[in-house]
This record gives sequence, structure tokens and C-alpha cells, in this order.
Amino acid sequence: MNTPDIDWSNLSFGYIPTDYNVRCYYRDGKWGEIEVSSSETINMHIAATSLHYGQEIFEGLKAFRGKDGKVRIFRLEENAKRIISSANGIKMAPIPEELFCKMAKMAVKLNERFVPPYGSGASLYIRPLEIGMSAQVGVKPATEYLFLILVTPVGPYFKEGFRPTNICIMREFDRVAPRGTGRWKVGGNYAASLDAGERAHELGYSAVLYLDPKEKKYVDECGPANFFAIKDGKYITPASESILPSITNKSLMQLARDMGIEVEERHITLDELNEIDECAACGTAAVASPVAEIHDLDNNVKYVVSKDGNPGPITTKLYNHLRAIQLGEEEDVHGWNTIVE
Ligand SMILES: *Cc1c(COP(=O)(O)O)cnc(C)c1O
Repeated sequence: MNTPDIDWSNLSFGYIPTDYNVRCYYRDGKWGEIEVSSSETINMHIAATSLHYGQEIFEGLKAFRGKDGKVRIFRLEENAKRIISSANGIKMAPIPEELFCKMAKMAVKLNERFVPPYGSGASLYIRPLEIGMSAQVGVKPATEYLFLILVTPVGPYFKEGFRPTNICIMREFDRVAPRGTGRWKVGGNYAASLDAGERAHELGYSAVLYLDPKEKKYVDECGPANFFAIKDGKYITPASESILPSITNKSLMQLARDMGIEVEERHITLDELNEIDECAACGTAAVASPVAEIHDLDNNVKYVVSKDGNPGPITTKLYNHLRAIQLGEEEDVHGWNTIVE
């Protein structure tokens, strides 16, 4: 197994070709055989529902090379369950959990030489994707689907280290509707966030902090990531029908409880942002991305969360703890890792 010529510690969050991807087609009401492909393209009908009506869902998870040299996939079953929920949400054929897990392990195993070495800070990003394939010009769900998994090595999220950034509130945009597709991992949600996201970046912010789309009173999501805050020693995170249930958030909540920190899933008002001690965006890409200041651009209000410009102590502890489990440095007491043999 020759090592690819990659500068592991300088990888970005981009796309680097690997050796194989794995695919499975849903036709005549059932999933077929798993296919291994070395092609980076797919053949599809020009009238496929994914192209016309957005029948597309995806997942995002990572595999890590541990301290012991073993390759671990973090929370594989949780991602398998979530894509079933997304599929049902937009009327696509759900992928059986077992098939999802088998294909993900295959994709990692087949591309094992692309799993970055321990200590590089890099990991192998796993991107499962399902799309509607059958020709349909009327607005109806497809009868045929393609489920595929591609993998690509990605660099450490924090190039300059684990440092807080500023985020902003812009009421002009919603990412999702109150009872819309926000709770599912649907590509269209991302399309709806691109304009706001680009504007925020141009203004020097790392992300948009979206408010709940119905009343604009509560904190919802932080760009394509969940939001949590630490207040009076408690971990608080929004309860909302329009946010995607982040598996990282769920894991951090568990670790917080393990550390004796109380967890509250509830509405967080804007006023409350004056009273929080720490906050961060969380998701697979970064685990936790600490926030320094939140600028409400419509009302010209600044919520200064990190007074000294450093990440908060609890956020830091949770971040380190989760990373250590992913890398096999700390015991995986909850059975979150799947070892790829
Ligand atoms: C994927 C995603 C997240 C993060 O979920 P993880 O399972 O933690 O990676 C959060 N919000 C949105 C909108 C997402 O699409």
C-alpha cells in the first residue's frame, strides 16, 4: 500500500481524489448490489428528479487514524439513522442502516492509504449522498435512486489553532422555513444559505447566526452548524423544529453530562446572549468552533462573549475530550467509534 504524496498537515477542507467510491442503486422497489467504482463521475438522466426538484440528501462523518494505528469511524450508526430520517423527509427511498454502515466501512477500507496519519490533525471525510435518478418532469418523487459514498482527506479545521471568531445576525435571510426541511440534511438548505453566508464572509464573519424563522426571537443555527452556549455552568442549546440534529452536539451534550454539567435543550433568546459565558458552533467539520463576538447587524448590537479573545474553558475541555475519543487517546465508554478492520 503506497502512501499518497500529500502534505497531510497542510490539507484544506477541499476535495482530493481517492482510489474508489462505492455505489448502490434503488430500482424496482429494492436496493441492488454494492458497486465499487474508480470513476469520479456519474451517468444520469437529464430529467432526474435530483436535478429538477432537489431530491438530494447527504451525510458527513469522519474516519481517524488513532494513536494505536487503528482507523476509527466516529458515530457511524447515528449518521445511518439520520439519513433515513432525511430520506423520509423528502420522499426518497430510505437506505437500510446495515447497507449504509457496510458501504461506509468499505469506502474507508478501500481508500485506507488516504486516511491521514495520527498526529497530523487531518482526517478522512466521508460523504454519503443520495439522489433521485429517474426521469420525471411532473412534480413527484423518483422511483429510482442512487446512494453513493465518496471519501476525501481533509485538513485540520483550525489552521491557526483553536481560536474564537466573530459571527453575525442578519434578519434579511432565513435558511429554512419554520416547519420546512431544516431538520433534514438536504442540499437545498445549503443553497438557501449561500447568499447570506457569502455576505457574512465578505464582512469578515465566519458564519451567520440564524434566528428561528417564525418569530426571529430565538437563536436557531450557526450557518451549517448547531449552536451551544455555556451559561452559569450549564450547557444550553436551542430546541427547534428547524434545526438539524447535530451528532456532534449530541455527543458534546453527553460528554457535558459525564462531566457533571447540566444540559438544557430549550429556546435561547437574544437577550440571553448578554448573559452567556461561552458559545460555539458545532459540527463534524470543526467539532466546536468557539465564538468571540456576535454582531447583530440590523440593530447594531454587539454581544461580546469572549472578553479576552480566548476560547472558554468548558468549550475547550469538551473539544479536547471529543477529539481524544476520536483519536483513540481516551476510552470510548459510549461505544461511539467503529473500528475499520
Ligand atoms: C451537518 C449539519 C450540522 C452538523 O451535524 P453533525 O452531525 O454534528 O456533523 C449542523 N447543522 C446543519 C444544518 C448541518 O447540515
